Amino acid sequence: MKRKPKALIIYTGGTIGMVKDSYTGALMPVNFERLLANIPEIVKLDIELDIHTFEQTLDSSNVLPEHWIQMVETIEKNYDRYDGFVILHGSDTMAHSASAVSFMIENLSKPVIFTGSQLPIGVLRTDAKENFITALEIAVMKENDLPKVTEVCVYFEYHLLKGNRTTKFSSSHFNAFTSTNYPPLAEAGVQILFNDNILRKHNGLPTKFYKKLDPNIAILKIFPGMTENYVRGVLQIEGIKAIVLETFGSGNAPTSDWFISALKEAIARDIIIVNVTQCPSGSVMQGKYNTSSALGEIGVLSGQDITSEAALVKLMFLLANSPDLDTVRQKFPIPLKEEMTINEWA
Ligand code: ASP
Repeated sequence: MKRKPKALIIYTGGTIGMVKDSYTGALMPVNFERLLANIPEIVKLDIELDIHTFEQTLDSSNVLPEHWIQMVETIEKNYDRYDGFVILHGSDTMAHSASAVSFMIENLSKPVIFTGSQLPIGVLRTDAKENFITALEIAVMKENDLPKVTEVCVYFEYHLLKGNRTTKFSSSHFNAFTSTNYPPLAEAGVQILFNDNILRKHNGLPTKFYKKLDPNIAILKIFPGMTENYVRGVLQIEGIKAIVLETFGSGNAPTSDWFISALKEAIARDIIIVNVTQCPSGSVMQGKYNTSSALGEIGVLSGQDITSEAALVKLMFLLANSPDLDTVRQKFPIPLKEEMTINEWA
């Protein structure tokens, strides 16, 4: 007899499992049993389910790199026993977590699907049930006896997205995530239609788990009228090793002497600076405009079309897992997990 597929649910918290605190009225995470009690239909799935609950379930605003390590450790410990993994997570920082976990597992051969919801599972109009049930179905899906998906994804509101390409763009729509620079991996309607051309294929190599991250990173978002104090303040944070520079348009920034000098001096102090656009879609093209030429000349690395979330955690990952800063500099511009597309201005 064919065995039932097995999925491990890793419950980290998020709105999906929250209820209103009777005293303050604010949403607070609850335990998994209470969450499950609201979704009796789950027994109809022909899937054997086990649950690993974080000791303290979190609103994802409280998620830290150590929680990404916990997620990866849990997957590693249980890797051989399950067909796939569903991580229930708050939507606020789901894009960061999915990006981090995608870099921290090499040669992934099974699905790791992040999902959550905008309304708690106990609310009548909740989006949690569809998100959760479809994520579970995808987590155990096979084709020719092999897992259909072998990457870290976000499943939300009928779309399966590449985890490290996602950004949360709405706090009020059920359709909370975008992946503007990469097409959806699948769309769920009456059937789940996969975009087979872009699904990551497992390369047959053994899966490797990385459990080190270096959080000595900052984001420097530029804006018209920013002061030198502001820029230098960020660049001089003690212990800082890399900066995600969020620029305008296709990677453009002011050409003022003080600004370029401040960046140049930081690079001379061995700080890695990566150029990422503030635009929700499109790519950095250093050199296309005069306002980005100097950045390339002084050694700012182009983040191309990477999201700010993915750039941040890619730097945390590379800094912790490379022998030296030169290796980080060499590796950053190369896509690790299709998180960026190289353009002609790279
Ligand atoms: N604040 C919640 C969280 O990120 C929002 C959500 O789950 O959608 O945990």
